[in-house]
Amino acid sequence: MAEKYVLGYSSGTVSEPVLWKLIKDFNIQVNILKASISPGLEGSLLVELHAEQEPGDLEKALAWLDSIGVSCVSVAKRLSWNEEKCADCGACTGICFSSVLTLDRETWKLQVDKDKCVACGNCVKACPFGCFTLDFGE
Ligand code: SF4
Ligand code: SF4
Repeated sequence: MAEKYVLGYSSGTVSEPVLWKLIKDFNIQVNILKASISPGLEGSLLVELHAEQEPGDLEKALAWLDSIGVSCVSVAKRLSWNEEKCADCGACTGICFSSVLTLDRETWKLQVDKDKCVACGNCVKACPFGCFTLDFGE
């Protein structure tokens, strides 16, 4: 069964043919669900990954991604938002490529639609007040 992951590219890896290598070298079926990548800049890909032949191929592929500096986060992670600490500054809204985080145009309060979250972690880094955390549900 295919599982969803968010791949995080640094400026050094964004031009590499990473998905092609996943398919060719590791026999991984890749389905791109969402992409936010600019040449020479950081980027994120939401993908479904499925090992076509051996289940162990997926573990090898994930280890290879880590070795080349491409982060790979399972969407099984879950987002927590501390509304009490939130100052509604809006700093997190521009970095969420899943449109989870928006400011209400009437109240100017942050709205969080957790159902759209793909657990990329961008907002965790972006919030100056540490309002977001991701847990693994363990
Ligand atoms: S982790 Fe944060 S930035 Fe990433 S999709 Fe979820 S709400 Fe958006
Ligand atoms: S960056 Fe933090 S404080 Fe600012 S709106 Fe987002 S959650 Fe609230």
